[in-house]
Amino acid sequence: MQYRQFGKLGFQVSAFGMGCMRLPRIVTGDHGEVDREKAWEMIRYAADHGVTYFDTAYGYHNRTSEEVLGEALEGGRREKVKIATKQPFGVMTDLSSGGGKTVLENARRNLENTLKKLRTGYLDLYLIHNIQARDWEAIKSSGAIEEYEKFRAEGLIKAIAFSYHGDYAGFKPVLDYYDWGMVQIQQNLIDVDREATEQAIVDAGKKGCALVIMEPLRGGNLAFPPAPVQALYDAYPVKRSGVEWAFRHVLNYPEVSTILSGVSTLEQLKDNIEIFSKPDAVPGNLNDEDKKLIAGVREKYLSMKSVPCTGCEYCLPCPQGVNIPQVFGKYNDGVMFGTFEPSRRTYMFLVRAKQDAGSCVACGLCEKKCPQHIGIIQELKTAHEKLKGWVE
Ligand code: SF4
Ligand code: SF4
Repeated sequence: MQYRQFGKLGFQVSAFGMGCMRLPRIVTGDHGEVDREKAWEMIRYAADHGVTYFDTAYGYHNRTSEEVLGEALEGGRREKVKIATKQPFGVMTDLSSGGGKTVLENARRNLENTLKKLRTGYLDLYLIHNIQARDWEAIKSSGAIEEYEKFRAEGLIKAIAFSYHGDYAGFKPVLDYYDWGMVQIQQNLIDVDREATEQAIVDAGKKGCALVIMEPLRGGNLAFPPAPVQALYDAYPVKRSGVEWAFRHVLNYPEVSTILSGVSTLEQLKDNIEIFSKPDAVPGNLNDEDKKLIAGVREKYLSMKSVPCTGCEYCLPCPQGVNIPQVFGKYNDGVMFGTFEPSRRTYMFLVRAKQDAGSCVACGLCEKKCPQHIGIIQELKTAHEKLKGWVE
């Protein structure tokens, strides 16, 4: 296993971090739950084969992921690894759930529950989960960061961090605001100029923040290259799997501390560990020809999008709350990668937030504003049929 410095926090972690958001599941009818026996086996295998970083969150797997991780690591392994988990601002501000009376009391109660579930007295990293640009002002004024500082002073957490999905414009003010111990962003060979972009990696590195990368395989999709992409890989003299190319792309950045992979089977885990244990799985592993191949792969993927949505958001707000660009993003991923399974899982979060295409009442407001002249109403219907129905 390759190990990397964790920013200015003064320790090293495995370059591979095990994500606990796609653990093996048992699905019966409309009920799904983690297959604990299999998940424990995988987590213990990882901890026994050099993986020292585990990532989970309050909400993963219907709030059971932390518990499964805690059960697996109990009895000697926990002390050998770093655990990162996250609390979303929306959960701190949900005052209807009982127990807490204020945002900060909620935050503390949630942390206490998390520690119990993880069967540990402390967290190595505690993140504000998925900071949204629209919530940033409210987060700052809520006192949540100061409350996290109290947790740290009490020894309940070792470092304060955040995770972010969104564009660079929203990312930069969050990064600059505070002396974060770590930042976690989405990057992969498709998203170089999307999401927080490569610039976010550079900025976090300059600041000395540990940098954790999520979605290096874009929800697992990059593991299954469609025929036109596979043809590019096959024509290249160096033979590597789509998974390995995707990991190597992220491993190439010296600023990156660990790369999360949300493995669902022991076989995937073993394959990932093997890739991250290669002697040349290090920063700067890609030469100019490799980078050209990856750029060509990106172009090929993007040429396979179906709805020509640019994500400009001119169609928003929709009076019914439909997040049109996100729906099309997930639909396009399904078309591009030749499978809708990973997109269906994340679409579930839009459904829960009532931002899915099923809420569209065909008022037509959005179509008048779209510079790409997309038949949004019809495309939303198509997308919804493909994306709905995930059970978790
Ligand atoms: S047509 Fe549908 S998606 Fe578009 S604005 Fe109206 S309700 Fe929203
Ligand atoms: S206005 Fe059109 S191109 Fe822009 S996000 Fe909406 S659907 Fe996509």
